[in-house]
Amino acid sequence: MKSFFLAAQIFIIAISISAQSLTGLSEINKEDLIKNVGILSSPDFDGRLAGSEGYNKAANFIANKFSELGLKPAGDEKYFQYFNIEYNKIDSPVVFKAIVASDTTTYQLGKDFVLRGFTGSNNFTLPVVFCGYGISRPDLNYDDYAGINVKNKIVMVFKQNPKWKINNKDWGTNYPREKSLIAKKHGAKGILFVSLPTDKKPQPLIGSVLHGDGEQPLDFPQLQISIKAADNLLSRTGLTLSDFQTKIDEKEKPLSTVLMTKAVIRVKADYTKDAKTMNVVGMIEGSDPNLKNEYVVIGAHLDHVGSQAGLLFPGANDNASGSSAVLEIAKAFVQGGLKPKRSVIFALFAGEEQGLYGAKYFVNSWKKGYDKITAMLNLDCVGYGDSIQVGNGKSAPKLWDIANQIDKTSFNSMVEKTWNGGGADATPFHEKGIPCLYFVTTNSYEHLHLPSDKVETLNPVLFEKLVKLAHLTALEIANGNYKRESVLK
Ligand SMILES: [Zn+2]
Repeated sequence: MKSFFLAAQIFIIAISISAQSLTGLSEINKEDLIKNVGILSSPDFDGRLAGSEGYNKAANFIANKFSELGLKPAGDEKYFQYFNIEYNKIDSPVVFKAIVASDTTTYQLGKDFVLRGFTGSNNFTLPVVFCGYGISRPDLNYDDYAGINVKNKIVMVFKQNPKWKINNKDWGTNYPREKSLIAKKHGAKGILFVSLPTDKKPQPLIGSVLHGDGEQPLDFPQLQISIKAADNLLSRTGLTLSDFQTKIDEKEKPLSTVLMTKAVIRVKADYTKDAKTMNVVGMIEGSDPNLKNEYVVIGAHLDHVGSQAGLLFPGANDNASGSSAVLEIAKAFVQGGLKPKRSVIFALFAGEEQGLYGAKYFVNSWKKGYDKITAMLNLDCVGYGDSIQVGNGKSAPKLWDIANQIDKTSFNSMVEKTWNGGGADATPFHEKGIPCLYFVTTNSYEHLHLPSDKVETLNPVLFEKLVKLAHLTALEIANGNYKRESVLK
């Protein structure tokens, strides 16, 4: 019986795909997809950090497109759903130098170091102390700050937490602001984060505004430096960063050390606790008198990590690609003349990079009942890579099957591997019991949060296939051919 239904479902999908005029599929093309990514990732939009002018410009760009398409405004004020967010603007110039004995090395922003998005401001030349993982947990009998004086010094710590546990306990978070506040509490004046050198592929120098909880330490510079720069700062100890990590990990004991070197740091950032930002939300009302009160949400985050003192993080794949995909799907619905039975909401979220704030705001301000959202489709990093992956299939397997069957019939580009539990902007929806699908490409993260995440690196052929797959999946759900399932957590 089940296989009969499956066959029938594939048949129905096959019919609807062959009748291209009824799907709007011919409206989706790689040229338009790439064009919008090119615009959104250009210097004009300044890396689209939520709270910035560049982001506001991007939001207006989307709202204008929605308006041209005739989407119904579905924000609080027209297409916009406003909320406040922490925002930090990093000004030029930024200086980072190491003074080792009589040698001064001047480092280059973007090549040897970057700033943490929520760096504080200051201007000083101070001694550097290496403080291992930067953890102070006397309750676990582990304290990188025990027996070492970091007062009026700069600390250098691993960005990540240890891979081992003490008494099977987690270390807590490794958010930069929290590690910074620990250092500051011990009297330090600034912090240098460095990636674990023994990782197979140590994390590169990324732009990131994910900061964690706590007060913003306004006078406390936070940098991420290269392993090479860290090795230079450690050179008078006769050990490399890799030696330090290996020794700490072997004994599971701190090895904090005064380095007999100095660093010059100069940073000026302008911090706003409550900057105004906005989601952009448009809608096509359903054509069925009953089903129009049920909604399919097609979402992507529009924001990225911004720029630092002139160093641009374009965010072409992350996530101008998903934003362009949402626009293109909206266009396919409108210009394809589709009249979906359920209502379809197109949502571009702000503040994903700071911690999913836009998607959380959307979910928390939803007033119609979470059972009225039939499904949420999230598109995040969909333009770079080599095949299509659809996440959350373990939590919403029936929804995932729809995408998988469409792929088998038309594109043959989707991998079987999936996951459970939302992911990024899908997470707040998943947590409310809303079935979600997370569209992403495999091997998508090569340029993640790097200045090299540029439009010319994208794979237009795969990009187009993925967007067509997401569109047909959305259409199938919107036309009532899916009964909302209970989400497996
Ligand atoms: Zn990102």
